[in-house]
Amino acid sequence: MDTNALLYQDLEKVLVTREEIAKAVKELGQKLTEKYRGEDPIFVCILKGASVFFTDLVREIDAPLTMDFMMVSSYGSSTKSTGVVKIVKDLDKPVTDRHVVLVEDIVDSGMTLHYLKKVFANREAKSVSIVTLLDKPARRRVDLKVDYSCFNIPDAFVVGYGLDYDEKYRNLPDIGVLHPKIYENQG
Ligand code: 5GP
Repeated sequence: MDTNALLYQDLEKVLVTREEIAKAVKELGQKLTEKYRGEDPIFVCILKGASVFFTDLVREIDAPLTMDFMMVSSYGSSTKSTGVVKIVKDLDKPVTDRHVVLVEDIVDSGMTLHYLKKVFANREAKSVSIVTLLDKPARRRVDLKVDYSCFNIPDAFVVGYGLDYDEKYRNLPDIGVLHPKIYENQG
């Protein structure tokens, strides 16, 4: 899909291009290969937003790993989370004594991952690391250690490469700032 496509007309601008994403994902894959070789980690995709990033990232990691999937919902409006997290779909297998790598699309307030880290610590994971494609440090509301982040971005609502607004735009190959006119009259 090129940037003249219909979906791009709802963007204010493209923030991170597909080429920049591919380069960053490759570099991150190399770092994770070194870190986890011989450790048999579980890579957990936080659905649905991280799905595109996750499938690209695991193919850049040259080490045996297990993939699992979790879906959480955070209560709040469609553009802001409240930190109250519900596990909608849990992992298939226990994580006891395993290295867990949580793969997220974006860390905003940090409340979702803050909560999930506690969940995995209670399940007696050997370690819990956080990998995110995007980070909005200016919006952080809790103290959270992000182990790996590809891009720091400003405080704007972004879509594409897995990230949605109202379930749309996940299939955009680039990441863009959604034009506020798309959501300003919604709750
Ligand atoms: P947090 O708990 O860190 O505030 O929120 C993380 C979740 O909020 C992300 O996984 C994502 O679903 C959603 N989110 C936060 N900022 C954005 C954004 O700019 N665009 C989209 N599409 N989702 C966002």
